[in-house]
Amino acid sequence: MGKTRIIKIDAEKPEEVYLREAAAILREGGLVAFPTETVYGLGAAVTRPQAIQRVYAVKGRPADNPLIVHLDSYRRLPAVAAEIPPAARVLAEKFWPGPLTMVLPKKATIPAEVSAGLPTVAVRVPDHLVALRLLELAGVPVAAPSANLSGRPSPTLGRHVAEDLDGLVEMILDAGPTGVGVESTVLDLTGPTPRILRPGGVTREMLEEVFGVGGVEEPDPALMESGRPLAPGMKYRHYAPKAPLYLIVGEPARVNRYIKERLAVEGKARRKSAVLAYEEDRDYFPEGLFFSLGERNKPEEAAERLFSLLRACDEAGAESIYAAAPSRTGLGRAVFNRLWKAAGGNVVEVG
Ligand code: AMP
Ligand code: MG
Repeated sequence: MGKTRIIKIDAEKPEEVYLREAAAILREGGLVAFPTETVYGLGAAVTRPQAIQRVYAVKGRPADNPLIVHLDSYRRLPAVAAEIPPAARVLAEKFWPGPLTMVLPKKATIPAEVSAGLPTVAVRVPDHLVALRLLELAGVPVAAPSANLSGRPSPTLGRHVAEDLDGLVEMILDAGPTGVGVESTVLDLTGPTPRILRPGGVTREMLEEVFGVGGVEEPDPALMESGRPLAPGMKYRHYAPKAPLYLIVGEPARVNRYIKERLAVEGKARRKSAVLAYEEDRDYFPEGLFFSLGERNKPEEAAERLFSLLRACDEAGAESIYAAAPSRTGLGRAVFNRLWKAAGGNVVEVG
């Protein structure tokens, strides 16, 4: 492979000439990173099994962690899914384009590499003009995991993609910051009851408007870790900054007090640590170590900036990171899940 072409593209009025080049690269079996409304994706045409294999190689992604297939429209779903249950149609009408991925029975024509050998396939229509136009021009479904090296925080800026993948892919389309900031909700529709495999941009509360309260299963991630993972990707430490991250769970005042005590201990040992906490508590923590997750009752702010902050902690040279857990409602559940996975077991309950 030659040099990576890094192209700035307008998020609202994407330049056709770049989209056409990118679409041609995909069709010919190359890799293109592109923005979506959640995070940047690393795309490969599903018609090119070798390109799909390269996605795994480039990211260092474990071979048993399947990819999400992206479509430009619900109309293309029959090309990917062998069966479309009535619920899928209802969900697509309500949430597509948008951050909801549905797991459905896989059509035999989709290469096994895409879904890591599973009989199912994960699919969604992203809500971003660059992604939609690119998919339309490519004319084929595009498998695209997040455009980061495996294990690193997902990219929410073109710069993050370049940090991880420059020199490894043909093209990066940089359209500025993504909107939602955390990945799509993964919903399994192949069982008797819809099941959330990964919380994301479409919240459980939003799904309950369709299926009724209690109509959607959501296994506790802690339980999933101890047993066999339900979503293939769940067993890996994810979204991780280089420094160890401690997730502190509990009543806000206690959480803050605990973090402050830890900062004192770390300070004595001359270790630099960073704090991820809420805007309201900015003054409670020493300046310079504090990274704001936004307002406590606006989890969309934490979602939008979380991955960027994790990368910023590394850039600041933090040797440990203390994160105040968000409340587990609405989009807060997705933020909690990403922090929990970044913590890789370093979870402290302070009551
Ligand atoms: P990423 O695109 O990097 O955010 O990762 C895709 C996510 O979708 C991972 O958590 C996968 O485990 C999940 N996923 C993809 N395909 C399937 C599938 N067929 N069944 C269950 N989960 C899936
Ligand atoms: Mg990912």
